[in-house]
Amino acid sequence: MNLDFTAEQDVFRAEVRDWLHDNVPKEKRPIIGDETLVYDKAWQKKQYDAGWAGISWPVEYGGRGLSLIQQLIWFEEYAKAQAPYLGNFFVALSHAGPTVIARGTERQKAYHLPRILKGESPWCQGFSEPNSGSDLASLSTRAYVDGEHLVVNGSKIWTSFAQHADYQELLVRTDPDAGSKHSGITWVIGDMHLPGVDVRPISCMDGASHFCQVFYDNVRIPLENVVGDLNAGWSVAMTTLGFERGTAALAEQIAMAREIERLIELSKTRLGPDGVRPAIKDDLIAARLATLRAECAALKAMSYASISRAQRDFVPGAEGTLIATYNSEMLQRVYRMGADLMGDEMLDLDASEDRWTYEYYRSTLQTIAGGTSEIRRNIIGERLLGLPRDR
Ligand SMILES: Cc1cc2nc3c(=O)[nH]c(=O)nc-3n(C[C@H](O)[C@H](O)[C@H](O)COP(=O)(O)OP(=O)(O)OC[C@H]3O[C@@H](n4cnc5c(N)ncnc54)[C@H](O)[C@@H]3O)c2cc1C
Repeated sequence: MNLDFTAEQDVFRAEVRDWLHDNVPKEKRPIIGDETLVYDKAWQKKQYDAGWAGISWPVEYGGRGLSLIQQLIWFEEYAKAQAPYLGNFFVALSHAGPTVIARGTERQKAYHLPRILKGESPWCQGFSEPNSGSDLASLSTRAYVDGEHLVVNGSKIWTSFAQHADYQELLVRTDPDAGSKHSGITWVIGDMHLPGVDVRPISCMDGASHFCQVFYDNVRIPLENVVGDLNAGWSVAMTTLGFERGTAALAEQIAMAREIERLIELSKTRLGPDGVRPAIKDDLIAARLATLRAECAALKAMSYASISRAQRDFVPGAEGTLIATYNSEMLQRVYRMGADLMGDEMLDLDASEDRWTYEYYRSTLQTIAGGTSEIRRNIIGERLLGLPRDR
């Protein structure tokens, strides 16, 4: 394990920094609505056209074919440059594309990967169902084989970005009589524009539709869209979740370091609990900020070690779950600190330009989406610590 960067990697970092400095959009990313799609497509296309899309993706499918360390450098500089959230391309870039790279056919790779990198095709994830969340393997959206097609009936819920997505990572039950619930599941690329797909946005408390429920009524998906083998989709789903909880979480953690530094700046301008001195002069607040900064440094070291170990294996292991769990719970503490610093104004969601209170409430999703903290702890216990399996 080597945690130092080489001279070549330092040169790469300087190139990334220069390009981002000159090209990160000046206008902020819209938070909700169809304009997010226009913005996200334009930004992704700009990165592709300049040769900065898919740092660790294969060259033959439009990527740069570089190492995971260089991917890490890109994430770090991306966060430092305050470049936009991936938004509608989060699923495609963070876990759908990587799953297709790791488990897809040549045809699937050649068709989908360039479209993702060019900013043409956003994806969404159709895993959760009204009665299957943590216990994902109990899913009941049914698909049967009819000639050269799978015919899908059922429903998925909490599907982020479904209203804008062209494709979906879709998990369906293709053999209800298989011996165990983990068998008989298939991972298939669902085209969101096929007849019979009905996307219904769910309105949230803040007025936005952050996710949707999707209904499938005799939707015919070509069998050639199956990733991995028919009835063997559970292991493909584990690959997807490995990327979602591993590499994707890594990018978020790097952005968090920036948020902590912004918090420290905020504590110099907001009044502390005595109503006289700046918040940073309060011992308790100063200790909380110092702890966050130290925890973030520890998390960074864990991430470097993990990436260094994973360099030869494109698919992240259970170790990523450890980092993702720490990261998501810590992010909630970071935004709680921000909300606390707002004082009485905490009651106003939009009180500051940086919307600390809004982000605090929003951060609650961190320990639910992509698997709850309890489920992640089960994975850490079973797969890293070798504890007995959860029943
Ligand atoms: C903002 C957001 C975006 C999302 N986007 C998507 C998406 O794009 N695609 C998608 O497929 N899904 C998405 N989800 C769904 C998410 O994956 C599920 O919410 C999550 O897996 C939990 O499932 P559930 O909500 O059904 O809760 P449940 O499974 O009903 O869990 C309820 C509670 O019980 C606990 N629990 C359950 N089982 C155990 C156990 N064995 N041991 C200990 N505790 C347990 C859980 O930790 C939780 O606290 C999203 C969720 C959120 C909040």
